[in-house]
Amino acid sequence: MRTRLLKGSTRSVFDAAALIRAGQVVAFPTETVYGLGANALDADAVARIFSAKERPADNPLIVHIAAVEEAFPLCHWTPDAQTLAQAFWPGPLTMLLKKKSIIPPITTAGLQTVAVRMPSHPLALALIKASGCPIAAPSANRSSRPSPTTAMHVLEDMSGRIPMILDGGPSSVGVESTVLDMSGDTPTIFRPGAVTCEQITMVLGECCVSDSVLRPVPATQNAPSPGMRHKHYAPKARMTLVKGDANRVAQYIASRYDRDENAAILAFEEHVPLYGARHTQSLGKDAMDAAHRLFYLLRGMDLGGITRIYAETLPENGLGLAVMNRMARAAGFDVVNADNEY
Ligand code: AMP
Ligand code: MG
Repeated sequence: MRTRLLKGSTRSVFDAAALIRAGQVVAFPTETVYGLGANALDADAVARIFSAKERPADNPLIVHIAAVEEAFPLCHWTPDAQTLAQAFWPGPLTMLLKKKSIIPPITTAGLQTVAVRMPSHPLALALIKASGCPIAAPSANRSSRPSPTTAMHVLEDMSGRIPMILDGGPSSVGVESTVLDMSGDTPTIFRPGAVTCEQITMVLGECCVSDSVLRPVPATQNAPSPGMRHKHYAPKARMTLVKGDANRVAQYIASRYDRDENAAILAFEEHVPLYGARHTQSLGKDAMDAAHRLFYLLRGMDLGGITRIYAETLPENGLGLAVMNRMARAAGFDVVNADNEY
């Protein structure tokens, strides 16, 4: 199959919507990362997403809509869901709610909840409206690889596997949406994103974060969200996160780097000079920059033949929690505290 890469326009959105209506898969930009979309109500179309991505069948998809009312036929909507939708939609918040029977089991991997989100990217909204159906879309990477934040990343992973990629420029957020379980007693974050626990608490009065956000799910325990079990966001290189006082972190990383071949360092802007002439890439000034750059940098390191990555960490609050969640998973939870190493 030839994969067409088209700049987002009225014409290309029209063509993409025709493919979606015909049961095909199209990659499109959202404000978080690029998505791989198909008609969420068509089991055969959704099966094509799983095969293009090589995604394990037990990992459910997020269903994207273009207006709040479009959620009503899909799930059992609640007053809290309405409050959150008013506060954060369109935007990077996915809510898990009890599903209705219109959603085929393949979309939710057999679970009784469905993940719904209204994205804010104008091309995503235009595509959903033109398709006339809710669009199931996971991130448009091959399973386990870092998520795509540009159309070129999607092409790297999906060339020959899907008929079309809509190019809407680089994703503005850079990490996937917050996944919030609304089906239990207390709203619980299963995956942190740009809508933070602090913000949700301001609106609803309560919100908690699942323990499994920064730790691997113990083998003996059920994962609250299937995605927590799977390898995720991983570069080809082995990656280690180094916590602690900035100078100690730099000393530790520099000494390890010097023993390795093809190593690279991910450091915050102000610390880059601490690493001298070593191959160092900047995560930027803050969590927002890091969210924006992380997957881009990890993919660049894969292309550059890097086999060992050492990364600085950041405080686990606000958007920092989302960045730390992605980095911890990319590193297979290999985290060292430099303060304990001396
Ligand atoms: P992605 O589509 O690649 O952004 O991943 C979607 C994430 O949401 C995965 O981690 C899924 O496991 C999670 N997810 C989607 N639907 C559900 C659901 N019904 N229950 C729990 N987690 C879900
Ligand atoms: Mg993904």
